Amino acid sequence: MTVDTNSTALVSTTKSNWAPQFSPIFPGLNTTETEPTYNASKIDTGATLSKEKLDLSQYPRGWKVPPTDSAEVKAIIDRIDWSLVPKSPKHKAQNGDIIQTGYDASKDPDCWWTSSGCTKPKIDYIPSDFYNCPTKGDWGLTYDDGPFVYSSDDDKETKQENKWAEPELYNFLAKEDLKASLFYVGSNVIEYPAAARRALNNGHTLCSHTWSHPAMTTLTNEQVVAELYWSLKAIKDATGVTTKCWRPPQGDVDDRVRAIAWQMGLHTVIWNEDTDDWAMPAPGGGNLPPEKVDAKFEKWIKKQQQGKYNTGIMVLEHELNHATVGMTEKWLPKLKETFNIVSAMQCNGVTQPYWEKSFEYPAVH
Ligand SMILES: [Zn+2]
Repeated sequence: MTVDTNSTALVSTTKSNWAPQFSPIFPGLNTTETEPTYNASKIDTGATLSKEKLDLSQYPRGWKVPPTDSAEVKAIIDRIDWSLVPKSPKHKAQNGDIIQTGYDASKDPDCWWTSSGCTKPKIDYIPSDFYNCPTKGDWGLTYDDGPFVYSSDDDKETKQENKWAEPELYNFLAKEDLKASLFYVGSNVIEYPAAARRALNNGHTLCSHTWSHPAMTTLTNEQVVAELYWSLKAIKDATGVTTKCWRPPQGDVDDRVRAIAWQMGLHTVIWNEDTDDWAMPAPGGGNLPPEKVDAKFEKWIKKQQQGKYNTGIMVLEHELNHATVGMTEKWLPKLKETFNIVSAMQCNGVTQPYWEKSFEYPAVH
């Protein structure tokens, strides 16, 4: 087991640094040295990717909250200073909706985003979430739920490889010379590690979006650890980097979950404009007419042209199905005429989003 002996004791009480305190321990993997590097002059845009999966026997079952009694998860649980984690109540969900009844939204004691949109924690050792781009005119590009796996629901009818899966979006972004922050579901990463490696090669920033995509405030402390740990481990195994950023599914985060994530080396990222692209009719989607999503993009362009934004924006999009990828391919060329489109982590000044020290992205301003 690799242990960074310098990092076991202290949780910083200063907010001056955006980066959390220590990286999780990965059995057999070194989180202090860099193997992969980012080389802007050598972007791979090949049409195919290896379909080889990671060794699935080494991971919990995909798309389920992982067990909390594995040696790895227990090691992380032991390492967390639980006196620094607030005892906010665990919430309940019904049919996918998080129940907010009984929570005092006006006082918002837990900085619960789902209830209040709170992004500034009430506990003093955690800095604010990233949720926008500070510089006016910036469009912080983000995609959740990837990597978009070739055998996903989109192709169930035809039984053919899904042509909208990666590398479709990554090759499109490379053609447009754009970088994004990608919030990966661990269960997808183990199925399609080559897509994660391609994204890293192409200069995108990899962040965690949990292992199985649950509403995090509905989990126990131990389950929160397991969800974050296995997503970090999958990204590390696939790409060699240990990320410092994560985004809660549905934005469902409070100070209890933030505090655990922070001690596991993760800074929380939200958004301040939402395309609702996931809700369009497509596999995994809903019934939102695509025209409604078009209208949002139109509205944001107009608002920017009229100078009505005081900061840049961070926009939630998905690499989820043919509808979401099609929508971003339709709008990005138009958005470029109005906004400065940048990776959301980089618009927040984060050029070193991984624990491996020598991996550095270019600054954008
Ligand atoms: Zn998601």
